[in-house]
Amino acid sequence: MKKNMKTIQLKNRPEGKPTLSNFEFVEEDKTLTITEGEILLEAAYVSVDPYLRGRMSDAKSYVEPFKLNEPVHSGVVAKVTASKNDEFQVGDYVSGMLNWSTQQVSNGEGLNKVDPEKAPLSTYLGVLGMTGLTAYLGLTEIGKPKAGETIVVSGAAGAVGSVVGQIAKILGLRVIGIAGTDEKIEMLKSKFGFDEGINYNTTKDMKSAIAEAAPNGVDVYFDNVGGPISDAVLFSINQFARIIICGAISVYNETELPKSISVQPFLVKNSALMQGFIVSNYAEKFPEAIQKLSGWLTEGKLTYTETIVDGFDNIPQAFIDLFEGKNKGKMIVKI
Ligand code: NAP
Repeated sequence: MKKNMKTIQLKNRPEGKPTLSNFEFVEEDKTLTITEGEILLEAAYVSVDPYLRGRMSDAKSYVEPFKLNEPVHSGVVAKVTASKNDEFQVGDYVSGMLNWSTQQVSNGEGLNKVDPEKAPLSTYLGVLGMTGLTAYLGLTEIGKPKAGETIVVSGAAGAVGSVVGQIAKILGLRVIGIAGTDEKIEMLKSKFGFDEGINYNTTKDMKSAIAEAAPNGVDVYFDNVGGPISDAVLFSINQFARIIICGAISVYNETELPKSISVQPFLVKNSALMQGFIVSNYAEKFPEAIQKLSGWLTEGKLTYTETIVDGFDNIPQAFIDLFEGKNKGKMIVKI
């Protein structure tokens, strides 16, 4: 008989690249009940994100690792199907960190109501959610971009990168994007208005390609990938350049510490700044950032793309596919 509830748990920790065998599907026939203050939720959209790779390992980080044999969780948009909490009505949609479960009970803590009339529900996991906030706050708070400057964005065709490049264009910068396919480079230019694009998979000499695309040098580098791509950018940075370390997806699956060039001489010689960040560092600025992002969306200055994968069972594969660059823009699973 078909069971009515599915959950995805972490079965074991990946060595190197994550695989489907790291996940366990648990199917149950269960009627969830709620008590005073609780709500019952049905998952509608699930976000898969590169940072989840870090939580699958038990290395110390800024968030707790996932526990073995317990549900994996990430950003989810869910529908309220029953409520004993005055703040939420049946039919409301909420967004927050929730389990990879078709149904679950919550006390509402940490959940935000989202309005499907104002924007498509999936956008609350992307351009109007965590990745949009990361793009805006990383760029403005650390990058301090100024009109006329040149920015390089790596992972440029992904959720964060595609928004960074567009905001930089709005702010008057020359924007160069680095991504993994010609189709993505074409999209950066035609859909998102980037000035130049470099396909790192077909470019033999990244150092020269970056120097050529940025004849006046690089003032801001928004780094989503780390590794050799980022090493190559360092050769073109200008005096007082700002290097925003948002992510390092190219090394998340490495089992040994990757070898890299020494950044110090580049930073000293150029009086440059390199700073990592976690979007939650700027939590107090989220309302202001969302206002900016939704304003630009309404005005048509900002757009977005999403790769929507269908079906709860495909959540782990969608996550794994991030490391193969199978997404354009935000990777989301529709339940
Ligand atoms: P995303 O860019 O939408 O998806 C990942 C992309 O990374 C893929 O589409 C792929 O595109 C690229 N990629 C995969 N393996 C690569 C490799 N070995 N070398 C170079 N590129 C590779 O993901 P996202 O959610 O926007 O996240 C982007 C980065 O920001 C990640 O590093 C993530 O961890 C980080 N992040 C940080 C924060 C924070 O608070 N600091 C918040 C959100 C995200 P290609 O086809 O171009 O290779």
